[in-house]
Amino acid sequence: MAYESVNPFDGKSVKTFVELTNEQLEVKIARAASCYETWKKMSYAQRAVIVAKAAELMHDNVDKFAKHATVEMGKLINEARGEVDFSANILAYYAKNSERFLAPVKLHPTHGEAHMESSPIGVIFGVEPWNFPYYQLARVAGPHLMAGNTLLVKHAGCVPQCAIEFEKLWKDAGAPDGLYTNLLISHEQSDKVIDDPRIKGVALTGSVAAGRSISARAGTNLKVSSMELGGSDAFIVLEDADLEKTIPWAVWGRMYNAGQTCCASKRFIVVEEIADQFLAKFKTALEALKPGDPMDETTTHGPLSTESALVDLLKQVDAAVAKGAKVALGGKRIDRAGSFMEATILTDVKPDNPAFRDEFFGPVAMFFRVKDEAAAIALANDSDFGLGGSVFTKDVARGRRVASQVETGMMFINNIDWSDAELPFGGIKDSGYGRELGNMGIQEFVNKKLVRIHDMAAPLV
Ligand code: NAP
Repeated sequence: MAYESVNPFDGKSVKTFVELTNEQLEVKIARAASCYETWKKMSYAQRAVIVAKAAELMHDNVDKFAKHATVEMGKLINEARGEVDFSANILAYYAKNSERFLAPVKLHPTHGEAHMESSPIGVIFGVEPWNFPYYQLARVAGPHLMAGNTLLVKHAGCVPQCAIEFEKLWKDAGAPDGLYTNLLISHEQSDKVIDDPRIKGVALTGSVAAGRSISARAGTNLKVSSMELGGSDAFIVLEDADLEKTIPWAVWGRMYNAGQTCCASKRFIVVEEIADQFLAKFKTALEALKPGDPMDETTTHGPLSTESALVDLLKQVDAAVAKGAKVALGGKRIDRAGSFMEATILTDVKPDNPAFRDEFFGPVAMFFRVKDEAAAIALANDSDFGLGGSVFTKDVARGRRVASQVETGMMFINNIDWSDAELPFGGIKDSGYGRELGNMGIQEFVNKKLVRIHDMAAPLV
């Protein structure tokens, strides 16, 4: 079943959903295209009424939204509540700031006058992952709807209830028919949507494999796209780091959302002088986590999103070990019902081990010891990914110096990758292209039009 809610805490199927027929899909595309014709003419203030209302409804119904996420993909209930709140904040942020972000910009040509206008481009197609089943949707809905576009969204197969709940949010907020549409569709149908001439842009958040397929399809159709893909972020610990502060961030950086975050800390790169101490403390802190029901607020270690995610991750760990990695902690399934993986630390992952270049999408940390700051930077950059990264040091000037030399889209000093509505989010290399959030996020799917006023006689030919 392509769209099915299965609770990863107990493996029980909650609800199944049928995919759209091609005829039903056509009706939805047509509605989105027709809605665009009126929505694009609305003022920012008119659009903001609906987007701000959606934000308010999310804020007012945090528990209702959060419970769907916990049931469908095992997110700890307090993390799910945090995600819903943050998603609402993103919508409110764009309701408030979009007119300013997209205001005409005056240019200064040598002759005459000129300015840039930002106008909507049409129906945008979003393909989104399950790991933040609302936040990922809010990151596209807030900016692109406020810009005057309309949205069709294909959400991941394992979170259909979250997808449907988010679509209902827009109806409840008073959105016109076709403004925001959830599509329960197959990959083949998704390709057809990208090919459809009524679709003007494609936004994906997902794996590198999906990025290659979807960006190629968009490229063939000469459609603008943004790709938010995987990551293997470095967590650099310099010898002057304050370990009392650093260790809790290491645990949070790797274990938040059961480790299933694109910008989670995945490679722990620690300077030799402090490495043994860091490893011992990191192990102790991970061992203290308490697996249990993600609906229970005292649980600190939830299940993975699906059984297949767990099976794949266990295989990845076994393959890493077969090629020489050592298990310093965990490495196995937790002996209980549900799709739980032990918090795991792998050491001795050498560059010739395929794991060295892999993304571990779950609670598996790779630990590396390095000689000094320069070696830490070199190792951080020896990655196909380039999403985010962190550096921990008591010397902020040193932190800035390291941050400048790490080749990623985002760097954080004495913190893990911490998103805010105001700050652009995205990566380089295999982590994709384009940015979401902040002012940059709303600029991805607008027409930047030059208008020049230059009243002069035409030159004689
Ligand atoms: P995934 O398999 O790529 O799935 C993501 C979405 O893409 C789902 O809706 C999936 O649909 C769809 N999809 C996959 N292949 C497709 C295709 N060929 N055609 C059309 N749709 C397709 O990714 P995942 O494993 O679920 O999610 C985790 C990945 O996302 C990780 O690599 C993570 O790092 C990345 N991620 C990146 C960011 C970021 O902002 N950079 C944020 C979160 C996650 P189905 O579910 O129906 O297959």
